[in-house]
Amino acid sequence: MHKTVLALGGDGIGPEILDQGLRVVRRLAELSQTSLSIEKGLLHGASWEAHKKFCTDSVLEQAKASDAVLVGAVGGPQWDNIRAPGGAECQDGLMYLRYHLQPYLGLRPSKSWGSLLSQTPFRPDLVGGVNVLILREMCGGAMFASERGQQMVNGLRQGYDLTAYDEAEVARFAHGGFQIARSRRGRLVSCDKSNVMESYKLWREVVTEVSQDYPDVIFENMFADNCAYQLMQRPKDFDVVIACNQLGDILSDLTAVYSGSLGMLPSACLAANPDSGMVFGIYESTAGSAPDIAGLGIANPIGMILSVGMMFHYSFGLPDISMRVERAVQDVVNAGILTPDLGGTATSAQLTNSILDRLVA
Ligand code: NAD
Ligand code: MN
Repeated sequence: MHKTVLALGGDGIGPEILDQGLRVVRRLAELSQTSLSIEKGLLHGASWEAHKKFCTDSVLEQAKASDAVLVGAVGGPQWDNIRAPGGAECQDGLMYLRYHLQPYLGLRPSKSWGSLLSQTPFRPDLVGGVNVLILREMCGGAMFASERGQQMVNGLRQGYDLTAYDEAEVARFAHGGFQIARSRRGRLVSCDKSNVMESYKLWREVVTEVSQDYPDVIFENMFADNCAYQLMQRPKDFDVVIACNQLGDILSDLTAVYSGSLGMLPSACLAANPDSGMVFGIYESTAGSAPDIAGLGIANPIGMILSVGMMFHYSFGLPDISMRVERAVQDVVNAGILTPDLGGTATSAQLTNSILDRLVA
């Protein structure tokens, strides 16, 4: 089997964790006898500095020609207020890739790790055994508003981003959610603010229609604010939670608390339902570029490494390899080999060494 991966480090800790992730990619390729071509490129701030564009067309073309894209993380204060010509997708390198490649199904799994329960602000009995998948819609909603900007209204500055979802965008995403819920514990909560907003009224209508096709999945609509509360109050009752782009972004950082650190959280953004076989995906740690610890070599690489596992699962059709990665991470965490975000003293490279030690034939 031959696969092509485009690796984009981005900014801050992005290139640091990507390097560790690539060490694992090479090892897994050996173990699974996958022949790999890995290409590298610039994204977001790094791309802006070189090309005055957050993502170049040649990087987009390379991404289109790849089976999967691995991203470290993007962003930093020096680029936050740049207005690049073009729409929402031109203001951010990752958004550019999402806009053009449509990886609409954003899987953000968060679980508690037995030996890290004391690193969480929860009582161990409340958070032990938690395993929640936040599914974030990645390609629409307020973040991709076609009508956005700032204007003067009655002598006051007004900023606006039009939240819009059409039924096809919601339906393809909801189908993905229900099918993934079927492969897990068969429960799905959809969250929205349909009590007050029109776009969410359509969201709820469409998700409820789609739910009719999945009578075997226990389905519930929940208002997003209550959902955030319930996710903290009784996390073990949740399996899959589906949410729009903006709410999914927030809920996935919130549920990262179960795992002890935002740096533990992987993500996969899939361009088709995984039930359809091997699918194109963008894989990245859920967290941002962590400018506060960039350059120190101490970023937690586990979110990135678990994302690599998800790439082998969803884009290479090798779920067993993904399980092996998870078991290796579990062993290392149990052995107390941890980066400083989890109270340890290991560097990113040392932690990755320990994971590699456990990924041998
Ligand atoms: P952040 O996610 O970068 O950091 C939040 C906190 O988590 C910080 O304390 C950071 O040190 C910690 N953290 C994150 N990843 C870690 C890791 N791997 N190991 C240890 N600790 C880790 O959020 P922020 O500070 O609000 O944003 C920084 C920049 O990242 C901004 O420019 C933002 O736009 C960007 N961002 C990018 C992405 C992405 O690339 N997908 C996601 C979110 C934010
Ligand atoms: Mn986020």
